[in-house]
Amino acid sequence: MLDTVVFDSGTPGPHLLITGAIHGDEVCGTIAIGRTIMELRTGIFKLDKGKVTFAPICNPKAYAANARYSDVNLNRVVQKHKAPSLYEHGLANDVTALIDTADVYLDLHSYSSGTLPFLFLDYDTPAHRAYATALNIPHWVTGWNALYEDAKDLSTGDTMTYANGAGKLGILVECGLHSDPVAALHGYKAIRAALAHFGIAEAFDKTPPAKPDIKRMVSLEVKKKEGRMMQDWQHLDSITKGMPIAQYDDGETLTAPVDGVIILPGKKTALGEEWVYYGVSAE
Ligand SMILES: [Zn+2]
Repeated sequence: MLDTVVFDSGTPGPHLLITGAIHGDEVCGTIAIGRTIMELRTGIFKLDKGKVTFAPICNPKAYAANARYSDVNLNRVVQKHKAPSLYEHGLANDVTALIDTADVYLDLHSYSSGTLPFLFLDYDTPAHRAYATALNIPHWVTGWNALYEDAKDLSTGDTMTYANGAGKLGILVECGLHSDPVAALHGYKAIRAALAHFGIAEAFDKTPPAKPDIKRMVSLEVKKKEGRMMQDWQHLDSITKGMPIAQYDDGETLTAPVDGVIILPGKKTALGEEWVYYGVSAE
């Protein structure tokens, strides 16, 4: 079972689960969770009600290797595996068991091209919007589920899809660039904001939330063969329809399908995995 640290206020209230390093090279969540654990132990702040479970390193083998995953992308196989055949299948069983015990959930990630923190609003309900607003992260990306509905071969489950199916309110935050120390600060602020939103602990940052900029993902490109990006694209760079985005080594060029933005352009994408997403402005 994955290592966890649990704090229980002793007063009834929501049980928040916070996970880090679902992808082994995304250490911001681990660092942010470590700071929070230290502050709770020291009494810098305390829980007023409810309970928190921290799972700081959800993919230990990949974390040790500073790699995204060991056998397979954990965040595409989050479901119950009756006969786990790959390393991440066992991890998925642990992560789903943790989600089962919680009421609400925060999953912290980072990415490879860009520094802006953003969150995924995968389920557009009033409760999700209220939670997302409370996190006070000004960039939101929607449309994940519709996209993967048409790409079932790429994913059999991610943390938020599993959480939603289990009736748990969850948000996934991308805290910034993998190697940017500031990403851990964004992760810490997200943890404190989630704790405050659910009434578990007092707020850290009392800045009123700004109106978010929302982009809806409309398509994704799988890397089918060796190739390269035409530019050093950064997450949320503007694009116009027809603009060359990437080129395979055989000369085939991928062009932007819409006027909009680039989302999560992959720096070291493996063949057969998601290379880049495209998005448009949304409300
Ligand atoms: Zn990730």
